[in-house]
Amino acid sequence: MTRVFVALGANLNDPEGQIRAARQALAALAVPGSLRHSPLYRSRPMGPTDQPAYVNGVSAFDTRLSPHALLDALQAIELAQGRERQAERWGPRTLDLDILLYGERQIEDERLTIPHYGMKQREFVLYPLADLAPELVLPCGTPLARLLQDCPQNGMTRLPAQ
Ligand code: ATP
Ligand code: CA
Ligand code: CA
Ligand code: CA
Repeated sequence: MTRVFVALGANLNDPEGQIRAARQALAALAVPGSLRHSPLYRSRPMGPTDQPAYVNGVSAFDTRLSPHALLDALQAIELAQGRERQAERWGPRTLDLDILLYGERQIEDERLTIPHYGMKQREFVLYPLADLAPELVLPCGTPLARLLQDCPQNGMTRLPAQ
């Protein structure tokens, strides 16, 4: 059983509803009782600016799935919620699920980079991650609190709890 952190993002077709649906789907991958969710945030799009704002959050849970089985399961949830692969990098999407951390593991192969390669710079990952695990230290030894100090919020706002 391994503790994992997953980043959720959406900016099409009722993004907040997409995130809430995805959170429910994650329950099927989690050891019962282990699933936790951060507050949600509204953030500026990364990359192309001609797209709606994103809703982002992070969820944490214990799982018995291998890293690749977890990726398969997350991609199945993306597809079930209407994710369409597009040529444009970082273009709009109904749902994006990225594995941030898989225990202390460091993985680098054709399909997976863990810890997620962008997490150290992205405000829409670091702030919700810190809501869940303020004392977290990354496998490389860097404390999350240290990364937050160097990461401006970039206009991001927290959504009201619901
Ligand atoms: P970014 O990865 O910069 O956040 P993105 O999420 O838009 O961009 P996608 O098109 O969703 O990128 O994913 C491209 C590929 O990234 C996936 O097919 C998957 O194999 C690979 N990938 C590598 N590491 C991870 C990870 N930690 N979590 C999810 N996908 C990953
Ligand atoms: Ca565009
Ligand atoms: Ca992503
Ligand atoms: Ca992704």
